[in-house]
Amino acid sequence: MLVPRRGRGWLRSVGTAMAGQSILIIGAGIGGLSTACYAQMNGYRARILEMHAAPGGVCTAWTQSGYTFDGCIHNLAGSSPASPFHRIWQDLGIVPARRMHAYDEIVRVEHAEGGEPLTVYTDLDRLSDHLKHLAPADADVIDELIGAARQFARFDLLGLAASTSWERLKALAALPLLVKYGRVTLEQYATRFSDPFLRHAFPTIVYDWPKQSMLVLLAFLAGMHRGDLGWPVGGSAAFARAIESRLLQLGGEVQYGARVQSILVEDDRAVGVRLTDGTEQRADITISNAYGPSTIFGMLGGRYTTRAIRSYYGEPEDRIEMGIHVSLGVARDMSREPHAIVLPLKQPVTIARELRARLYVEPFAFDASMAPPGKSALKVVMATSYRYWHELARQPERYAREKQQIAETIIDLLDRRFPGFKGQIEVVDVATPVTTERFTGNGHGFKSPFSRMALGLFTGRRLSQTLPGLGNFYMVGQWAGMPGVSLVAAMGRDVVRSICRADGKAFVAW
Ligand SMILES: Cc1cc2nc3c(=O)[nH]c(=O)nc-3n(C[C@H](O)[C@H](O)[C@H](O)COP(=O)(O)OP(=O)(O)OC[C@H]3O[C@@H](n4cnc5c(N)ncnc54)[C@H](O)[C@@H]3O)c2cc1C
Repeated sequence: MLVPRRGRGWLRSVGTAMAGQSILIIGAGIGGLSTACYAQMNGYRARILEMHAAPGGVCTAWTQSGYTFDGCIHNLAGSSPASPFHRIWQDLGIVPARRMHAYDEIVRVEHAEGGEPLTVYTDLDRLSDHLKHLAPADADVIDELIGAARQFARFDLLGLAASTSWERLKALAALPLLVKYGRVTLEQYATRFSDPFLRHAFPTIVYDWPKQSMLVLLAFLAGMHRGDLGWPVGGSAAFARAIESRLLQLGGEVQYGARVQSILVEDDRAVGVRLTDGTEQRADITISNAYGPSTIFGMLGGRYTTRAIRSYYGEPEDRIEMGIHVSLGVARDMSREPHAIVLPLKQPVTIARELRARLYVEPFAFDASMAPPGKSALKVVMATSYRYWHELARQPERYAREKQQIAETIIDLLDRRFPGFKGQIEVVDVATPVTTERFTGNGHGFKSPFSRMALGLFTGRRLSQTLPGLGNFYMVGQWAGMPGVSLVAAMGRDVVRSICRADGKAFVAW
């Protein structure tokens, strides 16, 4: 077998059987599950080693007293049959197993003084009318915004990751738009509105993330206008379970409670793994879906790196968007509420040492499967500092007290907006970046340089799916490319395609 040896030609692996080669995959995140499914489809024997007790990694949810609290998917690229990702979801057993819900709105931003809210409709005509109704004096800026979204709707920027090279080439026509909007954040763009409410509300319309690039907003507006970026009914855990079922049907295996400590290497070839219980498992090919730095510097001891890799996988960011999840089970029917609300606070409050002027509230009542009949699961998410929680977690009592304090503050604030809410609370759950780290092994934060990410969509090149000098080894998932369940699933498919190519056989998907 031939495997790429970055910058140094190819590395020959001798003595491996071509047919039915074994592949060990570290991690049952969506990237790992997808890799295993496509490996099985192509005649390889895939086995996943997952340290946790369930599939999905960060694509997860937890249930309590009949409520399902979702920790991940808001918008799924490929929920619409028109998206190139849809085919991947068919291959992986998501379609038709999981029904898709298309949103009518992206978010509703309420008015602090009780005026008419900003509703970001997914239908661009309706959105244009609504924006002009709210801010007639800003018609020019609104026309430009809607026009840009329509232009984006012709390209499906995210879908490029699942497209052919020819489609990527055609999409180069979008390059001027990328250049124009790539460096503008939502809060910068908002200064162009003269209407005070729009200036204030606009920066919050993508998950209340004002420093988000306008490209992301335009990709969202375009995708949702086409009926894509919807919600898989049942949520993230059911989504991951559906792929796991497909894998088992295909004859693949998942071993839970199996934490990999190191990757075994002989003659610069990965030959398997050693688990923390001391046992070893061998395979022809080893693929890591785990946190990049722990794969490269932990499991491989930092032996296969370059300066670029060390810098790329260097110190993770401290600030975690959506780092705090306050999940509430409430005996109240919220099915008439929007699925995402930006709630301005009359008086800013301090939560986790930061002054907050608004809450990002997500009632999941649009999906009846998320709560018992007549009740609703709801989540409030907010950005936070990893270091703050990391320090606090050293003192379990203070950590628990802070989580409880946050929940009480949020419940009081929601009670003002939804009278009677406090008395209807049945379940409270608070997750922090430390929770995510503990359950998925992901370090406290990471931000891929956006320009490289965007360029990768056109060139099809990812950051580092192989490591220099190490044969029979690949990496899949958000650390080796871009975050997003669709993108990591596409990466799993592509890594198997590369393995097939190296083995001189045609790649199949079915
Ligand atoms: C709050 C939030 C919201 C999001 N919203 C969306 C959204 O709306 N749409 C979207 O497309 N994407 C969304 N994403 C991003 C998306 O969920 C992730 O990019 C994607 O799921 C990452 O998958 P992965 O396979 O790369 O890695 P992970 O999910 O991190 O999986 C890695 C797996 O490896 C396992 N593992 C780690 N170390 C070891 C070890 N030593 N031994 C064995 N197993 C190990 C972990 O337990 C885990 O199961 C969101 C993410 C978050 C956190």
